[in-house]
Amino acid sequence: MSTTLQPEAVSAPTQLLVGGLWVDSSDGMTFEVEDPATGEVIAVVADGSVEDGLAAVSAAYEALPGWSATPPRQRGEVLRRMFDLMTERTEELARLIVRENGKALPDARGEVTYAAEFFRWFAEEAVRGGGDLHTAPSGANRILVLRQPIGVSVLVTPWNFPAAMATRKIGPALAAGCTVVLKPASDTPLTALALGALLGDAGVPAGVVNVLPSRRSGPVVGAMLHDPRVRKLSFTGSTAVGRGLLHQAADCVVSCSMELGGNAPFIVFDDADIEAAVAGAMVAKMRNGGEACTAANRFLVQRGIAADFGRRLAEAMGAMRMGRGLDEGVQLGPLVNAASRDKVAELVDGAVRDGARVVVGAGAPAGPGYFYSPTVLVDVPSSAAILREEIFGPVAPLVAFDTEQEAVELANDTEYGLVAYVYTSDLRRGLRVSEALESGMVGLNRALVSDPAAPFGGVKQSGLGREGGHDGLLEFMESKYVAVTW
Ligand code: NAD
Repeated sequence: MSTTLQPEAVSAPTQLLVGGLWVDSSDGMTFEVEDPATGEVIAVVADGSVEDGLAAVSAAYEALPGWSATPPRQRGEVLRRMFDLMTERTEELARLIVRENGKALPDARGEVTYAAEFFRWFAEEAVRGGGDLHTAPSGANRILVLRQPIGVSVLVTPWNFPAAMATRKIGPALAAGCTVVLKPASDTPLTALALGALLGDAGVPAGVVNVLPSRRSGPVVGAMLHDPRVRKLSFTGSTAVGRGLLHQAADCVVSCSMELGGNAPFIVFDDADIEAAVAGAMVAKMRNGGEACTAANRFLVQRGIAADFGRRLAEAMGAMRMGRGLDEGVQLGPLVNAASRDKVAELVDGAVRDGARVVVGAGAPAGPGYFYSPTVLVDVPSSAAILREEIFGPVAPLVAFDTEQEAVELANDTEYGLVAYVYTSDLRRGLRVSEALESGMVGLNRALVSDPAAPFGGVKQSGLGREGGHDGLLEFMESKYVAVTW
């Protein structure tokens, strides 16, 4: 662990943003935000009530006609200004993310850049809503298809990328002409509130973006989903919570985009460039300290190279510098809270009980802070829970396989299907396996798939819909068909 410097003050709004005004919760409730590296309380934030949620929906509903009628070019220019503002404030935003989330500063800087890029991309997409016109097969009429904003959208985001998960939704929603209520995770509301303030500076009119931190997520989001003025839910979070929200959205037939959990396989064939595969493994596993839905969760390595790969990966993992995210040279911060740290420890202990062998790590250093050491496990039996559940921490379990078919079967043996990684120098094999994998995304000889210009999303129980690319814009639009005779 590195030595800890003096923490710096946190500067971000702590009230709710409703209709362009900063307000306290209607019942005066608040909650505390902790620094996961120290356990210290860094802010006290307004805790949005059901009444506040409905007031935010009203504000978004009132702002909708004006914003949806704003020329697309003008909407795009506002988004582009937001990209510029975020880029100018990268360091400030990155340090805020570290304080409330714990991640290492280089990861936080990377997140701000990635998050800002959604505004640049959707500034460009705002003018590409498109539509369609063609002749009916009978020749009797024309089929005219208009694309219109879907309406008031509720955005619910997780704590692992406090900026990027919000901008990946706000960018396309605003580009499409929708107005939004953002409910950030209660572990990390400060970044979302800072973004809310910055959006105002960029020229987003009052009520177009409302930000509602709340510890009462269930009732607040539930009430918004049962308000008929809400037409869209865009959720990123766990599969369990997403499933529950889909049930609730059914009552008012609310359109849902769901970015849920993952259990990514990282497959290394014996013909792969092993150095590139280990470097890729470090990115796919350790970006964001392993707290990513795209994190490699199971390393499937062809038997002939399994021992060598395991040794090299353990060496790289063991060399990582862990400490408080803001400190110089730190590559791995703490997990977001005690429950996350305990869950990682439990999965590792369970795997070891089941027969896995620890090559490096497997331990939580004494506090303060919710740290867990970078860990590599080999000979992990297929029955181990660590191969079925999202680890969401710095732990790499390795499993050896013999044939290509076995690798694909093992990779697909999960209810999730967000992303998979394949390392091989045989491009034909790489594409064949990519096609056979049940996942929404594949990294082929590449460990980073996230890109605002690409459709991000999962199959199976990893979600519905796509964020980013042109698809991301369409998630916030409805097609209206007009049958025309002329
Ligand atoms: P979570 O499901 O616990 O919470 C996500 C959000 O939902 C938070 O804002 C939370 O306050 C809110 N929430 C919790 N319970 C709710 C309820 N009953 N009703 C309404 N809202 C509720 O997830 P998390 O722990 O914040 O995030 C980690 C999870 O997110 C992981 O499973 C990860 O894979 C997933 N994730 C997915 C993607 C993706 O793009 N697929 C990206 C990042 C994270």
